[in-house]
Amino acid sequence: MLACLRAHRPPFRALQNPFPFQSARYPMVKTRRASALASSTEDEQFERPTKKVKLEKTAVVEAAIVEIGVVEEKETKKAPKRLRKPKATTNIDPSTFLERIASPWKVGAHVSAAGGVENAVTNAAAIGANAFALFVKSQRKWNAPPLKQENIDAFKARMKEYGYTGDVVLPHGNYLVNLGNPDAEKREKSYDCFLDELKRCEQLGLKLFNFHPGSTVGGTTTAHSLSLIADCINRAHKETHFVITVLENMAGAGNVIGGEFSHLADIIAQVEDKSRVGVCMDTCHTFAAGYDIRTKETWDGTMSEFDSIIGLKYLRGMHLNDSKAELGTRKDRHENVGLGCLGLSAFQHILNDERTQGIPMILETPSFERPVDVWGKEIEILQRISRTQERLKLQVKDGVAPLVEVVQEVRAAVKAAEAASGKEKKGTKPKAAIKKVQKGKERVMVNEDENIDEDNGMSAPSAGTSKKTRKPPTAKKAPVKKKKMESEDESDLTEYDEEDA
Ligand SMILES: [Zn+2]
Ligand SMILES: [Zn+2]
Repeated sequence: MLACLRAHRPPFRALQNPFPFQSARYPMVKTRRASALASSTEDEQFERPTKKVKLEKTAVVEAAIVEIGVVEEKETKKAPKRLRKPKATTNIDPSTFLERIASPWKVGAHVSAAGGVENAVTNAAAIGANAFALFVKSQRKWNAPPLKQENIDAFKARMKEYGYTGDVVLPHGNYLVNLGNPDAEKREKSYDCFLDELKRCEQLGLKLFNFHPGSTVGGTTTAHSLSLIADCINRAHKETHFVITVLENMAGAGNVIGGEFSHLADIIAQVEDKSRVGVCMDTCHTFAAGYDIRTKETWDGTMSEFDSIIGLKYLRGMHLNDSKAELGTRKDRHENVGLGCLGLSAFQHILNDERTQGIPMILETPSFERPVDVWGKEIEILQRISRTQERLKLQVKDGVAPLVEVVQEVRAAVKAAEAASGKEKKGTKPKAAIKKVQKGKERVMVNEDENIDEDNGMSAPSAGTSKKTRKPPTAKKAPVKKKKMESEDESDLTEYDEEDA
């Protein structure tokens, strides 16, 4: 039976027929088709028995701190060359991939491109994603070797094989880039990096490129920074062919540009080729910046504001993140969908709004190194609530109770992943080995926060999560010269490993 399934189930088939199997092997299909009121058996499928283990995330966090130290050294001195690590994602077994639901809402996640950009495609397919994001080069380094032709070819081949088109992929820009920096030399360095990333997108046949607009670094006015950003975009458009530059809205702490819709509108107004500029709305950032989206009414209100200030035609993508921080706090703290201040009902409105159809909608939530378990579950649930809203309304008078049950599935998946992730690290590897492996970016997903690089003024991922951590000895020896900001941290999760790519 298994062999039969494998032989007869090329991944693209699954796209054409979203429900090819109804068997115990594919319980998710059954779940999705079943009523949104999950039965107890369905709950059992997703709620692994977990001991209440104190979550052990410090190792990962420490490694992230170490890694920042390494990055800084590389930028300034020249760190000793790291050992090559083994390639990730070598064994592809499509029979283990989660079912991908045919839907007008293209939900996916920011997946790992470790081991080569082509691996992002299979990592997306594995979690049942209809869209995905990736880094097209290291997100924390200025320079990276060019993409190899073999990786480009493999990427394109897999895109075709797994049925993804260039407009459902939303690459995420480097964290160091600040096109709004008033310092001409630093801005030029950012521009070069930005342009390189745009060219990589075009090499890969990708139509969109999402990036953080920039920061004034406290050295100029917002208006001036906005025009500097627009200038860079105009230059880049002339040096590239088709890729659309997508401005991400931000939580808007400190000097960061993009917390107000008007910032993005002002940039767009100064962009010459308006067919090649767009906006990505991050739900967490939107909320943290003070735009409420928790109810149908507030979501519609925020969308109206977006439309009148920016224009809905510029909406080219979304980041689907719940928020650990409250409305208007300007703190960028991503949370798994349904488990934060937004709540699952916010996503229900978004996933039933025709205006968000067809654009990549990307999860940047913590996956605890279990993308299939966590993001797979989040994607499945988002698709489920987008299709069953009417039924939910019918079954419970206020339409809320079923969502509570659905949220429990997310919570269970997250808890299990956290526990498994922590247990694995504690149980199977000595601490030193963990660090070494993680320093080499073997870990696939880490909940990273962004800090502001004082020097550059832009957010860069750092070790500080909102959870308590302690610094490893290496961090003490080489203190990280980054100011811990109140916000603009981001769970943009995934590694890109240019050494292997
Ligand atoms: Zn971002
Ligand atoms: Zn964020």
